[in-house]
Amino acid sequence: MKIAVLALQGDFAEHRKKLEECGAETFEIRQKKDIMTEFDGLVLPGGESTVIGKLLHELDIYDILKEKIEAGMPVFATCAGMILLAEKIENDDKVHFGTMHMTVKRNAYGRQLGSFRTDAAVKGLGEVPMTFIRAPYIADTNGAEVLAYVEGKAVAAREENQVALAFHPELDENNDIYRYWLDIVKNYTK
Ligand code: GLN
Repeated sequence: MKIAVLALQGDFAEHRKKLEECGAETFEIRQKKDIMTEFDGLVLPGGESTVIGKLLHELDIYDILKEKIEAGMPVFATCAGMILLAEKIENDDKVHFGTMHMTVKRNAYGRQLGSFRTDAAVKGLGEVPMTFIRAPYIADTNGAEVLAYVEGKAVAAREENQVALAFHPELDENNDIYRYWLDIVKNYTK
């Protein structure tokens, strides 16, 4: 299994470490030539969704990645990555990949009190630690399945091979959610 980690912003190094701990091979996408190689899954780390969205176009990698995702490539998206996948952003008129049928709200916990840690159950996995940093939440879904709630707000969702998390699993010890997604990749590559 070869996983591409978008390395334009955010914790791409931490994601690679986690994925490799779970037995996957990883590499970074920094420019167009990097996506010319074959890979089985894509990780979209956090950062600032507007900046990442702009860079995807400037680097001319947006169309190729969108095509791959639409063709079923598994995606693991955290925080800003989740915003990139949402078909609608409640407080922003932009749409990036728009491949998950859900509406998200950016900076949904307020800018000052925006960072916190908690534990909550993820469907099929039990409790996992969750670190939120100026996180979005899922305000509505129109096809995406909610996998976790924190204080009544949906914070994780899956739609076919796409898994989107409002929190940052790369910052916690627990690797269950990576294994959960890597199983999706395994089934996809079978
Ligand atoms: N606030 C960021 C955004 O709206 C997301 C934050 C994050 O990725 N940690 O894009």
